[in-house]
Amino acid sequence: MSATPPSVPPSIPAMSASVAKYLAEPKKLFIGGEWVDARAGGTLEVRNPANEELLARVAAGEAVDVDAAVAAARTAFESREWSQARPVDRERWLLKLADLLEANAQEFAELETLDNGKPLVFSAKVDLPSAVDFLRYAAGWATKIEGSTIDVSLPAFRKNEFVAYTRREPVGVVGAIIPWNFPLMMAVWKLGPALAAGCTVILKPAEDTPLTALRLAELSQQAGIPKGVINVVTGLGHVAGAALAAHPGVDKIAFTGSTAVGKLIGKAAVENMARVSLELGGKSPVIVLDDADPKSAAFGAANAIFFNSGQVCVAGSRLYVQTSKFDAVVEGVAAIAAKMRVGPGMDPLSQLGPLVSEKHLKRVSDYVRVGVRDGATLLAGGARQGDRGWYMRPTVLTGAKADARVVQEEIFGPVVVATPFDDVEEIAAIANATPYGLAASIWSNDLKRVNRLIPRIKAGTVWVNCHGLLDNALPFGGYKMSGFGREMGRSMMDLYTETKSVLMMV
Ligand code: NAP
Ligand code: MG
Repeated sequence: MSATPPSVPPSIPAMSASVAKYLAEPKKLFIGGEWVDARAGGTLEVRNPANEELLARVAAGEAVDVDAAVAAARTAFESREWSQARPVDRERWLLKLADLLEANAQEFAELETLDNGKPLVFSAKVDLPSAVDFLRYAAGWATKIEGSTIDVSLPAFRKNEFVAYTRREPVGVVGAIIPWNFPLMMAVWKLGPALAAGCTVILKPAEDTPLTALRLAELSQQAGIPKGVINVVTGLGHVAGAALAAHPGVDKIAFTGSTAVGKLIGKAAVENMARVSLELGGKSPVIVLDDADPKSAAFGAANAIFFNSGQVCVAGSRLYVQTSKFDAVVEGVAAIAAKMRVGPGMDPLSQLGPLVSEKHLKRVSDYVRVGVRDGATLLAGGARQGDRGWYMRPTVLTGAKADARVVQEEIFGPVVVATPFDDVEEIAAIANATPYGLAASIWSNDLKRVNRLIPRIKAGTVWVNCHGLLDNALPFGGYKMSGFGREMGRSMMDLYTETKSVLMMV
């Protein structure tokens, strides 16, 4: 079992005055460049996971509000001001938005920490700079959208000459539905390429973390981005989200979240033949070969699962260590887990923040209980910390069977299941034996074994001697039940453009 966990400090360092002022202002929907209440007048509570207190209320958008947002996005799309604007102008708007985000980074980082729970050091050093860089990377694509010229060989027209080429055109009105684990980053992952391509967007943030998306919409006004290009509809997933996914006026749905909801969204999109990209869950393996240094492997494996309290789609939630190093690595991870400081994100000493919601804490705790009931052993953690705030101790399980729910299902919390393996020849099959295929990492300096393993792993990303590192220029997405489509890199522009073929007899 774990060491006695440190208690949660009774007081959380205060938020800055500008954030307090922002939180006190009414939070409305952003539709067609105007801030409006939900038509039905409903609101949703936004709570601080660190202390369960009410942070703000946001508008509870419903189908009628989604209708209004889709209409605004359509009008903006059809206007010459946006989809037919010069690419360099769209680039400039996105760069301006990135500059404003950078100028307000500290406020955004605090807002993200208060809303989601993650330690401020991560919001400030990871989420914000990543979001700013990503917007700039996406801005660059606005001026680099290209088709190709193609020589054709029509057999019945040997005497004629042709010119053939392809154009990439914006797909149109985009519905973007995003999760709560990296709220701002997920918002810009959708907005960046969509806007660069000349699309317009209706963004539906997660009900637990709507605040930075709303603040970003304010910045988009300041950046002078035309009305209706960005719309933000806060609301419940099964209400506002479902209305957006099923809306016949939406040309493309971009979704990040659970596989269960991803399937619903995919089906709704196909009804309207809307284009769809799905970035779904994972159960990513961390594979440690026997030449790895156990200490650095343990450190890497702990980071792979505990970063962002395990609320990461690529979290290394299954740890496989070759038998001779198993005890050393797993004991190392358990020792790190037992010592980790779990506390409010606003406390600079916290290494892990709370989980995002009470509901999610219950879900993660239930998984641990089921894992132990099904025969797994707890080496660290296993329970909630304190009784105020949704804190979960980092947890290490061993001895789970390959078909146990804790091995097969995405827990999305700070819970790793460690299992030994003997033969490198069998590890690919073990690593691939879940429905997911988002990512994996291999820890070894044995080039031969590593390079033989990489092609055998069914995952969209494989890391070697690191885990969870994403780059704007590297495509990111899933195999199998982890979804389809690749965000980031050149491939993200495919998600927001259609190909038009042009054939001219000359
Ligand atoms: P989720 O339900 O898939 O939520 C993702 C987004 O979809 C949210 O904006 C959500 O709105 C919305 N949504 C929910 N039901 C919908 C529906 N019927 N139609 C359209 N949109 C809908 O995820 P969750 O409930 O927050 O988390 C559950 C599990 O999903 C997690 O424990 C984790 O396993 C997985 N997850 C994965 C990722 C990832 O990065 N791949 C991210 C988050 C969660 P509301 O917020 O209002 O529900
Ligand atoms: Mg919240």
